[in-house]
Amino acid sequence: MNNKYELIYEGKAKKVFSYDESDKVLIEFKDDATAFNALKKAKFEGKGKLNCLISAKIFEFLIQKNIPTHFLELKNENTMVAQKIKVIPLEIVLRNTAYGSLCKQTTIESGTVLAKPLIDFYLKNDDLNDPLITKDRIELMNIISLEDLDFIVDLTLKINEFLKSFFKKIKLQLVDFKLEFGYDLKNNIVLGDEISPDNCRLWDLNQNSDTIVSLDKDRFRNDLGGLIEAYSEINRRINNSM
Ligand code: UDP
Repeated sequence: MNNKYELIYEGKAKKVFSYDESDKVLIEFKDDATAFNALKKAKFEGKGKLNCLISAKIFEFLIQKNIPTHFLELKNENTMVAQKIKVIPLEIVLRNTAYGSLCKQTTIESGTVLAKPLIDFYLKNDDLNDPLITKDRIELMNIISLEDLDFIVDLTLKINEFLKSFFKKIKLQLVDFKLEFGYDLKNNIVLGDEISPDNCRLWDLNQNSDTIVSLDKDRFRNDLGGLIEAYSEINRRINNSM
């Protein structure tokens, strides 16, 4: 990024810079990938650009559906302009189908379609390894009010319905995803972070066999290879559907 802008924060997959107006930031998507609390790391050339373009399209879709998000516009292929928000240190995971950590921590079998969406809360804290937490613990730690948490849960359920139909149209099963929210300068809760194959599990419905074909970060987590090909395929299907 042009050194005109000051780096405010660097995360595992994105950099955040100041922008011309003080209520806006630039978010640059990096090619780095991490998994298992950054114990596993790699770089995939072109991943940042693909996640930025995919996220921008999904944010635009959600904004049309009246979901408040931090997204404003694309600056270039791997950078977006977003509203400056105060990020709430919670990861909100919604699951439609059982997979990943849910199956490691419970007796629910991988691939089970859940009778209703399950929402899990994780505390964003690298030192503690982002632990699974409860509503009561969120209240105890004074992270946000229970009223705001209920608002976030309702918004997440709505987002799930919109995303499920968005992905179904392009022949993808939305297994689960992780969202992050924040407060804008007027103290409204808005959706932040990104929505991309880095934080959604997406299975290909465009194939005949019963085997799961992951078009998401599980290609890296589980050493399946073909990550860029999978992300490009998602980007291609989104663009073809518009
Ligand atoms: N997820 C994420 N960031 C995290 C942990 C999970 O974006 O730090 C996403 C992940 O991509 C998946 C969903 O949240 O879409 C549920 O992940 P799970 O809890 O099953 O964790 P994992 O199996 O990755 O340990």
